[in-house]
Amino acid sequence: MNLGLRQKIATTILVVTVVLLLISGSLYYINSQQALTQAIKHHLATTLTIQAARLNQVIQQHQERLALLTSRTQLRLSLRDHLEVPNPAALAKVTKILIDAKKAIPDFRGIMVLSLQGDVLAATEPALLDSDFTDLHLPTPTPQMWVRVVVTPQNQKQLHIVSPLVLENKELGQLVVIAGLESIQAIVTGLIGLGLSEETIISYQTAEGQVESILPVRFANQLQPFQLKINPFKLITAGQAPELLELTDYQGHQVFAYVTTFSKTGWGMTLKIDQDEALAPLARQRHFMIIALLVSAFVTILFAVFLATSITRPINSLTHVAVMIANGDLSQRIHSFTNDELGVLARAFNQMADKLIAANELLEERVRNKTRDLAETNEKLLLANSQLERISRLDGLTEIANRRAFDQVLAQEWSRCQREEKRLALILLDVDLFKNYNDMLGHLAGDQCLKQIAKEIESTCQRPGDLTARYGGEEFVVLLPNTDSAHAHLVANKIQEQIKALVIAHPKSATGYVTLSMGIAACIPSRELQPADLIDQADQALYQAKQQGRNQIVEYTPADD
Ligand code: GH3
Ligand code: MG
Ligand code: MG
Repeated sequence: MNLGLRQKIATTILVVTVVLLLISGSLYYINSQQALTQAIKHHLATTLTIQAARLNQVIQQHQERLALLTSRTQLRLSLRDHLEVPNPAALAKVTKILIDAKKAIPDFRGIMVLSLQGDVLAATEPALLDSDFTDLHLPTPTPQMWVRVVVTPQNQKQLHIVSPLVLENKELGQLVVIAGLESIQAIVTGLIGLGLSEETIISYQTAEGQVESILPVRFANQLQPFQLKINPFKLITAGQAPELLELTDYQGHQVFAYVTTFSKTGWGMTLKIDQDEALAPLARQRHFMIIALLVSAFVTILFAVFLATSITRPINSLTHVAVMIANGDLSQRIHSFTNDELGVLARAFNQMADKLIAANELLEERVRNKTRDLAETNEKLLLANSQLERISRLDGLTEIANRRAFDQVLAQEWSRCQREEKRLALILLDVDLFKNYNDMLGHLAGDQCLKQIAKEIESTCQRPGDLTARYGGEEFVVLLPNTDSAHAHLVANKIQEQIKALVIAHPKSATGYVTLSMGIAACIPSRELQPADLIDQADQALYQAKQQGRNQIVEYTPADD
């Protein structure tokens, strides 16, 4: 995965924070769970102990009162008398003792004497005499203390506390005290518990080994005893400290429970509370922790994004500017500075860019100077070159165009006149008897003469395009573009006149002064002709002029061939 710097930092902070939160949250949760379980345990154990003690106390009290009654000798003697020979007077005595006892102890609802077969022999309430207890399976011999719960035909539960009536080691019958269950009820309902689902159940084991409640059970909608799921007689192990049990109760709820049994009455006691309710604080804590975790994660995300952004913004800006500078845009600068190493880096970066610009400007300045120098040198060179070019095209002595320049111009004019189908005329001029001139007057005078002649010819041919050149030695040439031979002739005549007018003395000349012989040739340049042909024609005409006695102008004519 290709994550940016910002995402990497943010993700790291988020993961670390969430992991730490989860660890600390879990530890706290486990700790709370243990503490809560401990508290539940302590509460249930303590409450059960108190309730068991109170129940024992109530039973004990009843038992003590009963013991006092059974120890009455008059009661037992009268009963024996009646058992031997039915004796209403003796029974009346028994009944009177019972009624007296009941008056003294208002808690007792009724007291009766049963035969060993379960027949009611005497009772404080006449109604009791009609009751049938034969099916109650009284144990014989009757234990010193025996407590049982009886459901009356009116569907009311009664507590029977039974004690044997023994005279001279012979069991005569049983004394039964009927007590309400109110005092026991008070024990189990007077409970200040942990929660609404907390309940104490006093139960007993039936002859069939089933466990039934003695008192109406809080959450059952029936008064009839019914079978309970939790069996204290099975759960309790003799000699062991009670333990916190996790069971399912008669309602099908998962409960925490403590159980105990009572050896005297053969009862069991169960104190239980729904696990859901008992652990509710833990569930609330879990919800709170989840919300806290979510809120923390959200805050962490915000913080992480903020932190990551504040760290990466200058780096991104730095990167952006660096890329722009690398691409040649030196105007870019970093504008926001943090007060850390990144700030120092950013400032250094800006300075670097400034220095780069300065260095660039210096370089450009140098290049400009160099270019200017180069241009100046170039200009000088061009000037020198053109001067050289000009010099190379001039004749050193006469300062008119030389043979080289003439050849070039001839070639150009030849092409142009060929293209435009115009006439091109040429006059070849030669100083007559110049050898003699030199011989007679000296070479320097000869040079001077040549200069004069050149200047004169050139001044005569001033039409644009006309060219006067020194052809070699004492020979000159005049090139006349767009000119026919007739006009060339006129030009030649004019030159002859001008030279004549100079009157340069020549001792050996027939005229006495310097003269020129001239050959004229003209044509319309064509593919069949070459420039050299035109020169040759002019040369032929010149030769003819010399032949005809010099100081002549001869026009080349093909017929001459
Ligand atoms: P023609 O009438 O038949 O032309 O006779 P010419 O003497 O003029 O001809 P020739 O060819 O016999 O002589 C030409 C002379 O021109 C020879 C040479 O000394 C002279 N000459 C050539 N160039 C120069 C130069 O630059 N200066 C001087 N002073 N003389 C030159
Ligand atoms: Mg010559
Ligand atoms: Mg000559």
